[in-house]
Amino acid sequence: MELFEPSKSILQEIKLDSKFRNVRLLVKRDDLIHPEVSGNKWRKLKYNIELVLFQKKDGILTFGGAYSNHLLATAAACKLAGLKSIGVVRGEELTTESNHNLKRCTELGMELKFIPREEYDARNEKFVQETWKEEYPFYLLVPEGGSNYYGIVGCQEIRKELPDEIDHLFVAQGTTATSCGLLIGLSENTKLHVVPVLKGFDAKGEMKKQLVPFLIDEETIREYLDRVEVHSEAHFGGYGKWNPELVDFISNCKEEYDLPLDKIYTGKAFYALMSWLAKQDFQTPQTIVFLHTGGLQNGSV
Ligand SMILES: *Cc1c(COP(=O)(O)O)cnc(C)c1O
Repeated sequence: MELFEPSKSILQEIKLDSKFRNVRLLVKRDDLIHPEVSGNKWRKLKYNIELVLFQKKDGILTFGGAYSNHLLATAAACKLAGLKSIGVVRGEELTTESNHNLKRCTELGMELKFIPREEYDARNEKFVQETWKEEYPFYLLVPEGGSNYYGIVGCQEIRKELPDEIDHLFVAQGTTATSCGLLIGLSENTKLHVVPVLKGFDAKGEMKKQLVPFLIDEETIREYLDRVEVHSEAHFGGYGKWNPELVDFISNCKEEYDLPLDKIYTGKAFYALMSWLAKQDFQTPQTIVFLHTGGLQNGSV
């Protein structure tokens, strides 16, 4: 069953100035897939939803912060699929009226449960997971960000919609599920540039854990990770932080390239790409792809 049309996700060519005449820069516009099940969140939910339907469960129970793109995507996708959804939200002081994101999740039929931060921080512990499972046996538990095995499988499909030959591929990184899905399908000639939005994030360490079910052994995982370049200083202070320079950059990209970006993920990642590009001096033609992972509902400037 196809709930959404990935064909809406076009490859947009960015016209760079003549200094970069060797460079073809393409943006894969996954933000266009659906206004609320945006970008990589749709990729990650696809097979989780198929599993719920296959197992004839009632819906999805998942986790997120007050501004989580994943909560909104889950609420919208479950509604489209005729499923129920429960969102466990970090912060017991919050209500369904606290912000637009939570309000919209509720409108889409998501049941929200607000829990204390300490309790939320233990969400991935075995006993916490088991308690939720006992309480909601007909729901599939999906981790924060939609980042489980099925999420990574969904992200692998992006590769099929990209050009065959890519020299450099850039992507924003939260949990690493999207970047892991991409990495598995790339040829050894492609460098994957990841831009973590969290400060002090162990990008390769996290990716290593996520790749275990997909690659045959540790050595293979290491070989794949050698193709990854981490831009660890592009977080603008950390998750949910930004400054006027980033906001100006995002406004310029909208004006100059007709490229809308969000200030939590894609703005930072595209900024990292453009700063990196400015330092390169390519002697041969290069194809560079930026994956637009969405996020415009909660992160527009
Ligand atoms: C969730 C999100 C990400 C992070 O993706 P991961 O798979 O968790 O690494 C990147 N960009 C946007 C816009 C997101 O909403």
